[in-house]
Amino acid sequence: LEPKEEFEHSSLAVDVMRPRRGDPALAVLTQDGMTVGEVETLVESTHYSGFPVVVSQESQRLVGFVLRRDLLISIDNARKRQDGIVSASLVVFTEHCPAQPPEAPPPLRLRGIMDLSPFTVTDHTPMDITVDIFRKLGLRQCLVTHNGRLLGIITKKDILKHMAQIANRDPDSILFN
Ligand code: ADP
Repeated sequence: LEPKEEFEHSSLAVDVMRPRRGDPALAVLTQDGMTVGEVETLVESTHYSGFPVVVSQESQRLVGFVLRRDLLISIDNARKRQDGIVSASLVVFTEHCPAQPPEAPPPLRLRGIMDLSPFTVTDHTPMDITVDIFRKLGLRQCLVTHNGRLLGIITKKDILKHMAQIANRDPDSILFN
């Protein structure tokens, strides 16, 4: 028998993704609606390794993914070396900058550090398929969507924890041998 045919766990991406019920909301950046100061506050108030970028808080439509490290380095560099970048500067992940009042400080353009095609699965994707994708593509994280709206994130560690839980519950499971 193929191992996969024996593997009959019914968890779905939605069961493994974060945030869980009761957790703080997913920490996301908007593509052209946040200032340098707001981005810094969000990044510094969490320890996540990365942040999905969405069109807007209302739409939760996924645009890309940025790593915490790249964000911090780029903002730090821009503050030191780029004329006019201050806390009130708009952070822009779009190709074109939105119109701003003439007195506004120059925007900080960060499209270059964004992964434009982060891997996604839908909330109903079975976890055995998701685990397979992580393995085959060597993913560190994957985003979870429902009808095109971003719902959550699954990291490699989330998967390892999930596997450990299943192995506890079902020591004969052969998926993880
Ligand atoms: P790891 O899982 O390797 O520790 P992270 O530090 O990025 O990686 O994530 C820690 C936990 O927070 C994980 O359970 C992950 O699913 C969750 N998480 C990651 N990024 C975010 C985010 N932007 N918003 C909310 N939760 C997140």
